[in-house]
Amino acid sequence: MLKELIDKYYQEKAKDYDRVKFYISDAAKCPRQIFFKFKKAPAKKIDARLLRIFDQGNYVHLRLMRDLFALNIVVASEIDIPPNEDIVGRADAIIRLNNQLYVVDFKSINSSILSKMTEPKKDHIAQIQLYLHFFNIKNGILLYEGKDNSLLKEFLVKYDRAFAKKLIGTFSEIKKYINQDIICPRLPDWPHNWQCQYCPFRKICKMAGPGPCSWAEFKEKIKSEEQKK
Ligand code: SF4
Repeated sequence: MLKELIDKYYQEKAKDYDRVKFYISDAAKCPRQIFFKFKKAPAKKIDARLLRIFDQGNYVHLRLMRDLFALNIVVASEIDIPPNEDIVGRADAIIRLNNQLYVVDFKSINSSILSKMTEPKKDHIAQIQLYLHFFNIKNGILLYEGKDNSLLKEFLVKYDRAFAKKLIGTFSEIKKYINQDIICPRLPDWPHNWQCQYCPFRKICKMAGPGPCSWAEFKEKIKSEEQKK
Protein backbone atom coordinates (compact mmCIF):
# COMPACT_ATOMS: atom_id res chain seq x y z
CA MET A 1 0.00 0.00 0.00
CA LEU A 2 1.85 3.07 1.28
CA LYS A 3 5.27 1.48 0.86
CA GLU A 4 4.67 0.85 -2.84
CA LEU A 5 3.43 4.42 -3.34
CA ILE A 6 6.43 5.92 -1.56
CA ASP A 7 8.84 3.64 -3.44
CA LYS A 8 7.26 4.73 -6.73
CA TYR A 9 7.54 8.38 -5.72
CA TYR A 10 11.30 7.95 -5.13
CA GLN A 11 11.78 6.09 -8.41
CA GLU A 12 10.01 8.90 -10.29
CA LYS A 13 12.11 11.54 -8.53
CA ALA A 14 15.29 9.68 -9.46
CA LYS A 15 14.61 9.75 -13.20
CA ASP A 16 17.42 11.45 -15.06
CA TYR A 17 16.63 14.70 -16.82
CA ASP A 18 17.69 15.28 -20.41
CA ARG A 19 21.35 16.15 -20.14
CA VAL A 20 22.82 18.98 -22.17
CA LYS A 21 25.66 19.92 -19.84
CA PHE A 22 28.04 18.21 -17.42
CA TYR A 23 27.41 18.49 -13.70
CA ILE A 24 30.32 19.37 -11.45
CA SER A 25 29.51 16.14 -9.62
CA ASP A 26 30.54 14.30 -12.85
CA ALA A 27 34.15 15.38 -12.23
CA ALA A 28 36.53 12.40 -12.03
CA LYS A 29 33.64 10.02 -12.81
CA CYS A 30 33.83 7.25 -15.39
CA PRO A 31 33.53 8.84 -18.88
CA ARG A 32 31.53 5.90 -20.19
CA GLN A 33 29.02 6.20 -17.35
CA ILE A 34 28.61 9.91 -18.14
CA PHE A 35 28.17 9.07 -21.84
CA PHE A 36 25.41 6.58 -21.01
CA LYS A 37 23.68 9.14 -18.82
CA PHE A 38 23.66 11.70 -21.62
CA LYS A 39 22.24 9.10 -24.00
CA LYS A 40 19.70 7.85 -21.44
CA ALA A 41 20.95 4.31 -21.95
CA PRO A 42 19.05 1.51 -20.19
CA ALA A 43 20.08 1.58 -16.55
CA LYS A 44 19.46 -0.64 -13.57
CA LYS A 45 16.85 0.94 -11.32
CA ILE A 46 18.26 2.12 -8.01
CA ASP A 47 16.48 0.57 -5.06
CA ALA A 48 14.02 3.02 -3.45
CA ARG A 49 15.51 2.25 -0.04
CA LEU A 50 18.92 3.43 -1.27
CA LEU A 51 17.35 6.57 -2.72
CA ARG A 52 15.85 7.35 0.68
CA ILE A 53 19.28 6.92 2.27
CA PHE A 54 20.73 9.40 -0.29
CA ASP A 55 17.90 11.78 0.53
CA GLN A 56 18.95 11.84 4.19
CA GLY A 57 22.06 13.68 3.01
CA ASN A 58 19.91 16.63 1.89
CA TYR A 59 18.64 17.07 5.46
CA VAL A 60 22.20 16.94 6.81
CA HIS A 61 23.14 19.68 4.32
CA LEU A 62 20.21 21.86 5.41
CA ARG A 63 21.20 21.54 9.06
CA LEU A 64 24.87 22.31 8.38
CA MET A 65 23.84 25.33 6.33
CA ARG A 66 21.65 26.54 9.19
CA ASP A 67 24.64 26.20 11.51
CA LEU A 68 26.87 28.29 9.21
CA PHE A 69 24.18 30.97 9.00
CA ALA A 70 23.94 30.98 12.80
CA LEU A 71 27.71 31.58 12.92
CA ASN A 72 27.17 34.58 10.67
CA ILE A 73 29.93 33.59 8.23
CA VAL A 74 27.90 32.85 5.09
CA VAL A 75 28.57 35.10 2.11
CA ALA A 76 26.38 33.08 -0.29
CA SER A 77 24.54 29.77 -0.19
CA GLU A 78 23.43 27.36 -2.91
CA ILE A 79 25.28 29.41 -5.46
CA ASP A 80 25.44 28.47 -9.14
CA ILE A 81 28.77 28.64 -10.93
CA PRO A 82 28.95 31.42 -13.54
CA PRO A 83 27.25 30.38 -16.81
CA ASN A 84 29.57 28.61 -19.23
CA GLU A 85 29.19 26.44 -22.28
CA ASP A 86 29.57 22.95 -20.85
CA ILE A 87 29.36 22.69 -17.06
CA VAL A 88 26.73 23.46 -14.44
CA GLY A 89 27.09 23.21 -10.70
CA ARG A 90 25.90 24.67 -7.43
CA ALA A 91 28.21 25.05 -4.46
CA ASP A 92 26.77 24.59 -1.00
CA ALA A 93 28.25 27.78 0.43
CA ILE A 94 30.84 30.49 0.23
CA ILE A 95 31.92 31.67 3.66
CA ARG A 96 34.27 34.29 5.05
CA LEU A 97 36.59 33.29 7.89
CA ASN A 98 39.31 35.62 9.18
CA ASN A 99 38.79 37.82 6.14
CA GLN A 100 39.39 34.95 3.73
CA LEU A 101 36.84 33.41 1.36
CA TYR A 102 36.26 29.65 1.26
CA VAL A 103 34.02 27.48 -0.89
CA VAL A 104 32.36 24.90 1.36
CA ASP A 105 31.02 21.60 0.12
CA PHE A 106 29.08 19.37 2.53
CA LYS A 107 29.29 15.60 2.24
CA SER A 108 27.39 13.07 4.29
CA ILE A 109 29.10 9.71 4.36
CA ASN A 110 28.98 6.31 6.00
CA SER A 111 30.33 6.82 9.54
CA SER A 112 32.67 3.82 9.49
CA ILE A 113 34.33 5.13 6.31
CA LEU A 114 34.59 8.64 7.73
CA SER A 115 36.26 7.55 10.95
CA LYS A 116 39.11 6.01 8.92
CA MET A 117 39.47 8.86 6.41
CA THR A 118 42.73 10.76 6.55
CA GLU A 119 42.15 12.63 3.29
CA PRO A 120 39.12 13.58 1.23
CA LYS A 121 37.76 11.32 -1.51
CA LYS A 122 39.33 11.95 -4.91
CA ASP A 123 36.05 12.74 -6.67
CA HIS A 124 35.16 15.25 -3.94
CA ILE A 125 38.52 16.98 -4.37
CA ALA A 126 37.83 17.17 -8.11
CA GLN A 127 34.43 18.73 -7.52
CA ILE A 128 35.65 21.40 -5.13
CA GLN A 129 38.61 22.19 -7.42
CA LEU A 130 36.10 23.08 -10.13
CA TYR A 131 34.11 25.27 -7.75
CA LEU A 132 37.30 27.06 -6.76
CA HIS A 133 38.16 27.51 -10.41
CA PHE A 134 34.80 28.92 -11.46
CA PHE A 135 34.41 31.18 -8.42
CA ASN A 136 38.03 32.27 -8.55
CA ILE A 137 38.53 31.47 -4.86
CA LYS A 138 41.78 30.02 -3.57
CA ASN A 139 40.58 27.86 -0.65
CA GLY A 140 37.90 25.27 -0.16
CA ILE A 141 36.65 23.16 2.72
CA LEU A 142 35.20 19.69 2.34
CA LEU A 143 33.06 19.20 5.42
CA TYR A 144 32.03 15.61 6.03
CA GLU A 145 29.39 14.39 8.46
CA GLY A 146 29.01 10.75 9.47
CA LYS A 147 25.55 9.46 8.60
CA ASP A 148 25.06 7.39 11.73
CA ASN A 149 27.11 9.26 14.33
CA SER A 150 27.14 12.93 13.11
CA LEU A 151 30.92 13.01 13.45
CA LEU A 152 32.32 16.06 11.61
CA LYS A 153 35.60 16.00 9.74
CA GLU A 154 36.93 18.76 7.50
CA PHE A 155 39.67 18.99 4.90
CA LEU A 156 41.16 22.17 3.50
CA VAL A 157 41.66 22.09 -0.28
CA LYS A 158 43.91 24.62 -1.99
CA TYR A 159 43.09 25.64 -5.56
CA ASP A 160 45.17 23.77 -8.11
CA ARG A 161 44.77 25.48 -11.48
CA ALA A 162 46.48 22.77 -13.52
CA PHE A 163 44.26 20.08 -12.01
CA ALA A 164 41.08 22.10 -12.60
CA LYS A 165 42.09 22.70 -16.22
CA LYS A 166 42.76 18.99 -16.67
CA LEU A 167 39.27 18.15 -15.37
CA ILE A 168 37.72 20.65 -17.77
CA GLY A 169 39.80 19.11 -20.58
CA THR A 170 38.41 15.67 -19.71
CA PHE A 171 34.86 17.01 -20.02
CA SER A 172 35.77 18.38 -23.48
CA GLU A 173 37.05 14.93 -24.47
CA ILE A 174 33.84 13.24 -23.30
CA LYS A 175 31.80 15.86 -25.16
CA LYS A 176 33.52 14.81 -28.40
CA TYR A 177 32.44 11.21 -27.84
CA ILE A 178 28.88 12.34 -27.08
CA ASN A 179 28.65 14.54 -30.17
CA GLN A 180 30.11 11.83 -32.41
CA ASP A 181 27.84 9.15 -30.90
CA ILE A 182 30.83 7.00 -30.00
CA ILE A 183 30.74 5.19 -26.65
CA CYS A 184 33.74 6.11 -24.47
CA PRO A 185 36.16 3.31 -23.55
CA ARG A 186 35.49 1.71 -20.23
CA LEU A 187 37.71 2.25 -17.16
CA PRO A 188 41.06 0.44 -17.45
CA ASP A 189 40.46 -1.34 -14.13
CA TRP A 190 36.92 -2.45 -15.00
CA PRO A 191 35.15 -4.20 -13.26
CA HIS A 192 37.17 -3.68 -10.06
CA ASN A 193 37.04 0.10 -9.95
CA TRP A 194 34.73 1.21 -7.11
CA GLN A 195 32.58 3.08 -9.62
CA CYS A 196 31.79 -0.17 -11.41
CA GLN A 197 30.45 -1.68 -8.18
CA TYR A 198 27.68 0.93 -8.01
CA CYS A 199 27.26 1.61 -11.72
CA PRO A 200 23.70 1.36 -13.07
CA PHE A 201 25.14 0.55 -16.53
CA ARG A 202 27.20 -2.49 -15.53
CA LYS A 203 25.19 -4.85 -17.70
CA ILE A 204 25.37 -2.89 -20.93
CA CYS A 205 28.98 -1.86 -20.24
CA LYS A 206 29.97 -5.52 -20.25
CA MET A 207 28.04 -6.06 -23.51
CA ALA A 208 29.78 -3.11 -25.18
CA GLY A 209 33.28 -4.47 -24.54
CA PRO A 210 36.36 -2.46 -23.56
CA GLY A 211 36.95 -0.08 -26.45
CA PRO A 212 35.05 2.76 -28.07
CA CYS A 213 32.18 1.71 -30.35
CA SER A 214 29.23 3.13 -32.25
CA TRP A 215 26.29 4.06 -30.03
CA ALA A 216 23.80 3.60 -32.89
CA GLU A 217 25.00 0.04 -33.54
CA PHE A 218 25.15 -0.79 -29.86
CA LYS A 219 21.57 0.40 -29.35
CA GLU A 220 20.48 -2.15 -31.98
CA LYS A 221 22.39 -4.85 -30.13
CA ILE A 222 20.61 -3.94 -26.87
CA LYS A 223 17.24 -4.08 -28.67
CA SER A 224 17.89 -7.50 -30.14
CA GLU A 225 19.03 -8.82 -26.74
CA GLU A 226 15.80 -7.50 -25.21
CA GLN A 227 13.73 -9.20 -27.92
CA LYS A 228 15.35 -12.57 -27.19
CA LYS A 229 13.95 -12.49 -23.63
S1 SF4 B 1 30.72 -0.50 -15.30
FE1 SF4 B 1 32.54 0.69 -14.77
S2 SF4 B 1 33.57 1.12 -16.71
FE2 SF4 B 1 31.47 0.48 -17.16
S3 SF4 B 1 30.30 2.39 -17.34
FE3 SF4 B 1 30.10 1.66 -15.26
S4 SF4 B 1 31.71 2.67 -14.11
FE4 SF4 B 1 32.22 2.84 -16.27
